[in-house]
Amino acid sequence: MNQNLKTKQDTNLDIKKGITPEQWKAEGEKLFGKDKMKWRFICPSCGHVASVQDWKDAGAGPGEIAFSCVGRHLKDSANAFSKESKKGGPCNYAGGGLFRINTKHVEDDYYFEFDHGI
Ligand SMILES: [Zn+2]
Repeated sequence: MNQNLKTKQDTNLDIKKGITPEQWKAEGEKLFGKDKMKWRFICPSCGHVASVQDWKDAGAGPGEIAFSCVGRHLKDSANAFSKESKKGGPCNYAGGGLFRINTKHVEDDYYFEFDHGI
């Protein structure tokens, strides 16, 4: 009797799973080439575009790249979700904070979207 319910739940679980890290990597390479330092991502809070190199230069750890705004490591960054952050940032948005707005779904987590601008 609960067969339909169970099937529905299983389907929902599948939907919750994002793309694989391999698919993410393939997408990045297609956009920016094999040099990951040149890959660029957009902060979902302030719209600031940062490359992996920018995060490294700012002293961010690997877990912050494409997850928390590079502004967290820069002086005078705008507060995430503030009016100033809407002017292009960078800001102090943290992907693991109270408000999680990262949209790129990779496996069990969410990251920044790639910057598709040139
Ligand atoms: Zn930001």
